[in-house]
Formats: sequence, C-alpha cells, structure tokens
Amino acid sequence: MAELESLQPQPLWNYFEQICHVPRPSRKEARIIEYLTKFATGRGLKFVTDNSGNVLISKPATPGMENRKTVILQSHVDMVGESDPGVIHDFEKDPIYPVIQGEWVRSKKATTLGADDGIGIAAQIALLVSDDIAHGPVECLFTVDEETGMTGAFGLSSDILTGNILINLDSEDEGELFIGCAGGKDTLAGFTRKIVSVPTGSMAFKIDITGLTGGHSGDDINKGRANSIKLLNNFLSYSFRNFELNIHSITGGDKRNAIPRNASAIFTIPSVNVDKLLSYFEYYKTVVRKDFQNTDPNISLLLEEAALPSEVIDRSVCHRLIQALEDCPHGVIAMSRAISGLVETSTNLASVKLPNANTIEVATSQRSSVDSSLQEIANRVKIVFESAGAGVQQSQGYPGWAPNPDSEIVRITVSSYKKLFGIEPQVKAIHAGLECGLLLQKYPTMDMISIGPTLKDVHTPSERLHIGSVSKFWLLLLDVLKNIPVE
Ligand SMILES: [Zn+2]
Repeated sequence: MAELESLQPQPLWNYFEQICHVPRPSRKEARIIEYLTKFATGRGLKFVTDNSGNVLISKPATPGMENRKTVILQSHVDMVGESDPGVIHDFEKDPIYPVIQGEWVRSKKATTLGADDGIGIAAQIALLVSDDIAHGPVECLFTVDEETGMTGAFGLSSDILTGNILINLDSEDEGELFIGCAGGKDTLAGFTRKIVSVPTGSMAFKIDITGLTGGHSGDDINKGRANSIKLLNNFLSYSFRNFELNIHSITGGDKRNAIPRNASAIFTIPSVNVDKLLSYFEYYKTVVRKDFQNTDPNISLLLEEAALPSEVIDRSVCHRLIQALEDCPHGVIAMSRAISGLVETSTNLASVKLPNANTIEVATSQRSSVDSSLQEIANRVKIVFESAGAGVQQSQGYPGWAPNPDSEIVRITVSSYKKLFGIEPQVKAIHAGLECGLLLQKYPTMDMISIGPTLKDVHTPSERLHIGSVSKFWLLLLDVLKNIPVE
C-alpha cells in the first residue's frame, strides 16, 4: 500500500509519491524526463522536448471550455540532494520514500524530500490525467536544472509555448501569491597570492569563527545576521595595522547563495606583540557576542597558537585584500518603494577560498528586482575589487520579474482565493530568483503568478511539506482554471 494513499486529494498525493521514487538531482534529470514522456505517450497526450531537456505536455480543453485562454502550468523537475552526515543515499539512484509525520510529509531517511518542486510536478500530472476537472487548453511545462543554474529556463525555446498566462508552481507558502522576484548576478574576484618568508621572531596563530546563523542570501539578507568573513576581516584588519600581523591563509563561507557561517585564518605576528593581540582578541570577542546576541546567539570565536608556516602573504597584497573585504558592501542596499517590506536590492559577501597556492578567490552575489539596480550594485562590488588590484569576473546573471499591478491572472487568483477560503491572500514579491524572470525574457507579454503549498526547510534534510496546505493549493488551482476568461 502506498504510504500517502490515505491523504486527500487523490490522485495528486499518489503521483507525488511516484515522483519521489524517481531520482532527479539537478543536471541528472534523464529518469524524470523519461517518466514524463512515457506518461504522455501512455495517455495519448501531445508532448515536445527542447534542446535543454525541458518537456512540454499539452492537453486540450474539456467540453465547453474550448474558447478559454490557454494556461501554462510550470514546475521544475530537478531537486537539491542534501542528507544528514552518516546517511547513505545516492540521489542519482535511490528513491526517496515519503512518510507522514503529524501534519507533515517528509523523507523517511534524513534527506531532502524534493517536494520542491515535486509537488508542482504532481499537480500537473494529476491535472493531465483528470477527466472531471473543467479547464481550457493547458500546457504543462517541466523545466530542468532550476536549482543549480536555471539552465532549463535559460535555454527554453522561444517558440514552444502558445499560451500567454503562466502559473508557476514553485513557491513555498500557502496563502501567499507571488507576483515578482529578484534577478541576480555573481561577482568573483581573484587576488594573486604573492608570498614572502615569515619575519624572524614571529609566532603563528589560527583564528576560527563558527556557529553563525547564516541563511539564504535572498530570503534572509534583511535579518541583520552576522557575516563570518566580515567579522574575521575586522579582526585581521585591526591587527594588521596595529600588531604587524601577516596572513598565511584565509578562508570562509561556502555557497554563493548562503550568508557565510564560518571563517578562519592562519597568521603570524612578532612575538613582542602577542600580549597586545591576545587582549585585543578578548575585547573583540566580547563586542561581537554582544552585538549579535539576538541574531547569532551561538557565535564562537577561537584563537589558538599554530605551527609556524614557512611563508606568509606579501604585505601589500594583504593590505589590498583586507581593504577590499572591508569596502565590499554586504546586506540590504535598498528596499522596494512599490511593495512594503520587500528587499529590492542586496549583496552577499559569500566566500573567500584558496583554490590553489597562488590565488585568493572572493565570491559575492547580488540581487535586485530592478534590472538597473542589479547592474549598479554588481558594478560597485566589481570596482571595489578592481581598485584593490584583483581580477574580476561576473556571471551573465538572470533577470528579475517586476510586479505587474494590472495582471489579469493575479486578479483572478486573488478573487478565487477569497471566494474559497473567506480571507485575503497576501500578494507578494520575493527577494530570490524564480524562473519567471527568465521566462518573461523569452515571452515578454506573459501574464504570470507563482503559487504553491507550504514547504519548510527546503534544500535541507529537514524539508517537509504541509499536508493541509496541499488541498488548499489544489482547490485554488482548479478554481483559477475554471475562471480563466475566454480568448
Ligand atoms: Zn524550487
């Protein structure tokens, strides 16, 4: 018996369970594509695939609905594979078994569930198989690789969709309708790690900063949380100027879309300055803990003696690096004037890495729902590093989706929501990327909205899907389809 058989609505939940069994990490989507095309063939539904691997399955209108406007329903087929340490799970081969836990569905093993965006796929399939749901012509678009680069949406053919209304099924809060998102760009700087020998009479230390709260560089950037690289750099900068500190190595942060949670450095200092350094460290630790006691209660700063390295970074390189990390903006740059509470523009100082013995690499990422502001902040960060003598590269970036106050699909969805549930939905934009910005670039007149049930802790092994929110999401989707106007 299927684990989710007891849940309503069916067959939506059973399709969700089936999709969980299909391994589909980003860029390894062959199996789910095969599942979809086999499904379409078996049901006699027309489908096409494009060069990027995206799949489009079409279904004609139900009787009496032929003259309605065509609606595109969109989800992404890939998922993020994350598991707890010690959990053995091969995301390329092993099925995920969903289980019910109270009000939630989660993965049986401590892995991501893939409800982002498996629940969107399941809703599309349930609609495609239905014979008792009234709808006009429907096109179900399944994109690949949303999670690591949106390459499916980037590469989507510009002549594959015929409809002009699109409902994206990839948002994560039932009761909230999304009508805009941020665009993004990454700025990457490289310093040449010129080395010199360690001055005689030096001692070496290692500083470790850990336990920060971190979070998503879009959703959490306005929460005032500490940035481990900034904290580390403040300490190094003061000690560089006052105690003749020399850096041997410096690292911090990990993914570009995460606020960095840890950072560390190995450095040397003349033995005569060690007492001053130690007392400054104690002072700095107290200040940091106090300043971030509300946002980062588990912050830890540790300083201990280390083995003396054979070389350190040249002081002029060190000076330029420290200065650039100090100058580099981090956090919210501007709030939206159109939607209250929405971050419009931000930047994340994400990581410092040593990819090889000769290079120090600094990664940052910028977001904005306004394209010109995105260019502006990305340029500002670029100039900070260029002025410090670093080589700078920028990603191509992806465009934002600016909210459209006259949107017909938003009006229809809001009115369906009020009628069904007796309350106003929240109409919002998010300060993170959705594929909608790219879809809009290909189809500039597309009228779009993004909806979904409630998901928590996505992209982590605690990912869970709220059972009650799924039926509301489904009812809303069906009512919206019923109310799409005639062409
Ligand atoms: Zn998603």
